[in-house]
Parts: sequence; C-alpha cells; structure tokens
Amino acid sequence: MTFSIHGLAVARGIAIGRAVLVASSRVDVAHYFIRPEQVGAEIDRLRQARNAVVEEIKRLQHDLSKDAPPELGALLDVHLMLLEDQSLSSEVKHWIEERLYNAEWALSSQMEVIGRQFDEMEDAYLRERKADLEQVTERVLHFMKSGSSPVTRIRPNSRPQQELHLGDTMDVPLVLVAHDLSPADMLQFKQSVFTGFVTDVGGKTSHTAIVARSLGIPAVVGARTASQLIRQDDWIIIDGDAGVAIVDPSPIILAEYGFKQRQGDLERERLSRLRHTPSQTLDGQKIELLANIEMPEDAAAALQVGAVGVGLFRSEFLFMGQQGNLPNEDAQFEQYRRAVEGMQGMPVTIRTVDVGADKQLDEARHDAAHLNPALGLRAIRWSLADPAMFLTQLRAILRAAAHGRVNLLIPMLAHASEIHQTLALVEQAKQELQQQGAAYGDVLLGAMIEIPAAALSLKLFLKHFDFLSIGTNDLIQYTLAIDRADESVAHLYDPLHPAVLRLVADTIAEGARQGKSVSVCGEMAGDITMTRLLLGMGLRSFSMHPSQVLQVKQQILRADTGKLKVWAERVLAAEDPALLMNL
Ligand code: PEP
Ligand code: MG
Repeated sequence: MTFSIHGLAVARGIAIGRAVLVASSRVDVAHYFIRPEQVGAEIDRLRQARNAVVEEIKRLQHDLSKDAPPELGALLDVHLMLLEDQSLSSEVKHWIEERLYNAEWALSSQMEVIGRQFDEMEDAYLRERKADLEQVTERVLHFMKSGSSPVTRIRPNSRPQQELHLGDTMDVPLVLVAHDLSPADMLQFKQSVFTGFVTDVGGKTSHTAIVARSLGIPAVVGARTASQLIRQDDWIIIDGDAGVAIVDPSPIILAEYGFKQRQGDLERERLSRLRHTPSQTLDGQKIELLANIEMPEDAAAALQVGAVGVGLFRSEFLFMGQQGNLPNEDAQFEQYRRAVEGMQGMPVTIRTVDVGADKQLDEARHDAAHLNPALGLRAIRWSLADPAMFLTQLRAILRAAAHGRVNLLIPMLAHASEIHQTLALVEQAKQELQQQGAAYGDVLLGAMIEIPAAALSLKLFLKHFDFLSIGTNDLIQYTLAIDRADESVAHLYDPLHPAVLRLVADTIAEGARQGKSVSVCGEMAGDITMTRLLLGMGLRSFSMHPSQVLQVKQQILRADTGKLKVWAERVLAAEDPALLMNL
C-alpha cells in the first residue's frame, strides 16, 4: 500500500530506489561497503567476535557461584542459544555476501529485522525478549569495536523466531533510510552507491543535511518515524524538492516521478552549459562563486562546475571517525596540499577545526560534551583549549600555503581575547616552522561571523582580519536560539527573520566600507530563493556546495544589482520580509 512520509526538503531532486535501512544501535556502528574479495575475511571477523562472546558467557556460567539465583544460569543459556543460532548467523552472512555490508552493519541490520518481528508478536512476554537479542548483538558489536565486550547485564529472555528472505538488490538504485546519521557516517557514504536518503531526525542546516547536499543527491531529513515505517527493500521515492518520501508507490505514481526525474536530469544538463559563462549580473557586477568542500577530493567537483576557488574547506571532516586519533601534522599537511593542488592555483580557504555540537569526533568525547553542545566547547573554543593540537593544524595549513593560495579561516570567534590568542598562535606556528627550516607560505586571515556578538563587533574583526565569511547557519541558530539540528523547532529556523537579515546586511556593508572582502558560506549562499536579496544587500562573494553553483549562477545572470538594492532596502525594513520576497 502506498503511503507518504513528510519531512524537511534538504537536497533537491527525485530519487527512486530500494530502501537500505541503517539500523540504529546503541553501539556506534561503522557502516561501509566492502569489496567482494573481502567477504571471507569479514565473515571471519564476525565469527571470531561471536566465538569470543560465546567463550566469555561460558566462562561466566562456569564462575557462577552456587548460591546465584537459578534463573541466572538459565539466562546465560538463552544468550548462548541466541549466539549459536544457525539461521541468525546465516542471515547475517547473507547481508555480507549479497549486499557487501561490513560485518557490524550486517549484524545490526539483521538485529533490526528480527527486532521488528518481535515487536509484532502477540505475546507480551515474547515481545519483550527483543531486549535480550539487542544485548547479545551489542556484546558482539562491542567486541568487534574494542576487542572486549561490555560488562555483563542479563535479563530473562527466550529464543527468537525469524525468517527473512532478502532480494538481491546490488544492481538496483538504493535509497538510504536511517534514524540518524552522523556527519562521519555521511562521509563514509560519500563514495558509495546511494541515490537518495531519508532520516528521522535532523534540521535543514544540520551537518548531516549539509553533507547530503554536498553529495548532490535528493534527501529528506526530520521525517520522524521514517525508519520505523519503511522496511528493508521497500521501493521508495524521495522527493527532495517537497521533502516527502513515498513508500511502495503505485505504478501511476512511479511513472509520474520517473517523468519528474527525467525533467530534473534535463535541467541539470542545461545548467551545465553555464559552467564557462562569466558570473556577472546584467549591470556588469562580477560575482565570485566559490565552493564549500569537506574533503580534498571534492576539489574536482568544484572545478567541474566552474567555481573560482574554495570559500570553505570544513577541515573537521578529516578528523572525524578516527576514534580520537587525530591526524598528525604531516597527515594533515598532505590533505591540505591535495586540496590546494586540486584547485589548480585558485585560492582555498581552510577553516580550522569546528568540532562539537552535532559534529563529535568520537563517542568518548561526545560523552564528555556538555548538555548544550551548540553553546559549549566548539570550534575555536575547542582549539584554544588544546593549543598543541591547534598549533599542529596551523603549521600544517601554513606548510600547504607553500604549494598554492591559502586563506586561513577561524570559526566561531566572539571575544577580543579569542582573537588575540588566535593571532598569537598563528605567529607562534610560523616561528616554529621557521626554526625547523620548514617551507611555508603567506595566508590571508579570515574570521567567520556566525555569532551575533561578532556581527555586532565588526570594527574589532575588521581591524584584525583580512576578510570575513558569514556563517549564516550558525548566525541564524544563535540569533534565534534555534538548535539547527533539531527538527522539532525547524519551523522557527528562519533565514528571513528581520534580525538575521539586519546582521547579514550590516556585515556586508561594513566590509565594503573598509574595502575588505565579505563572503557568505552558510547554506543561505546556495539557496536560490536568497540570491537576489544577498545581491541587493551588496554581497559579491558566495560560497556553496558545488552542486548549487550553477543554479545560483543562473540567478546572477538574470539580476540587476541596481534594482535589487532598492528592493532589498524595502525587504530589510519590512516587518515580515517573506511577504516581499516574490515582488
Ligand atoms: C555556518 O555556520 O554557516 C557555516 C558555514 O559553518 P558550519 O555549517 O560548518 O557550522
Ligand atoms: Mg558554523
């Protein structure tokens, strides 16, 4: 039966494919595709982990004291039965062999399938046995992750019933469905095969949505119960323009969306012809179009669409998913150099790490995070709290500057003291390189304007920095007190709020007055409904996902900044700017 699930539209276009569910386990599970020749080794890894957990439970059984309650021994028996269940392990093997999932993903996917079967059981006692299955699965997952399983906790349980028939879908388009995906997960999927994705949680400018947008595939986030309602292998249409996922579509609906998909392909094809067209308005204003990237290899996509540089390299993505082992100076330098060389002489703006909030490095640090991470130890605060780590990054960036044009961008500054400490550390990094006799280059220094306090202290910022980059994602979050990752307040996340527009406009105007470059690198820059307004406010430099560059260029080619300036002043003065946006 066809039904639709509504969420937030975060990446445009139509995707049609079979659902691949990424199970939400309490253990942080890595999800990636393996190569066919790795299947045997992956099944071995799983077997070894399972055997180790079996041994451990047997040891526990053996050590059970005589006066232990008799149920305890019985419970351990049941856990053993679950682990030794042949059909369970053969189904997990099936995920590895047929889908090429890594072992952890295969196991957690199977747990999800069986978990649903438990949920549907009539008998309440049996239904509750799902928890036991989760426990043993998590012990195995833990073992694969850390080489030991967690402290034993056991509760009464019984043996599950399961039967699963998987269709082999490696040759059909796949759509990813998950409760949540961390930005690190998304990066893993960047090289892979998905044609669209949908998640239960997330806001429009959550980092997961941002990475999805950078993949250029249709996506819906904040779809609340999607991962519960959609099943493995269901056919799904993702309508990334409307923010809807249509499950099990009828042939008529499929045909309609197939048509829309072809229209989209044609539109993209048409836009690609603008690649070499100079980015200039009708009244001759040159507009700089830059790319936002997460990895050095994204430079290719930036060149492909004719971006004239990188306006934001989110360097934290190099640090994520490393289980706390941060890349050393040489490893970072290599990555920055690759990005710089990849851009073939055009400038690359490398932002120092912005971890914290919804971009945690690993579980351990996450646990240490504060209750309100968006307001906590994030971005430059994190860097200044660990000067040795920050200096390592600064040295690596300065060394990369010997290989091409590099701008150094600092996120989330608010205080004069943070600016002074940062500048002192940049000087120190240069001196250290000089003492070592290492080659390094000059960089332009930039600050992100993404905290209202910074937007209200522009003179201070312009005194110390060569350029500014407005991070509208955070500027909106902090101006309106809306967690950008929380879908329950997504309706209040409003780029057109008069206070937000005022801060953006003042930053652009003050930069122009002082002859310093101001760019916007938040999602607003790639949103074609905002292009005219930003031009009218005087913005001449936009940085966005490569997939958005040509659409924005199309808007620019049709714009007249003289007329837009007059209109933008009216929008800025309006009580409800949204009402004037289509005039
Ligand atoms: C922003 O805040 O607008 C920005 C570009 O940085 P990030 O999205 O990485 O926080
Ligand atoms: Mg930001």
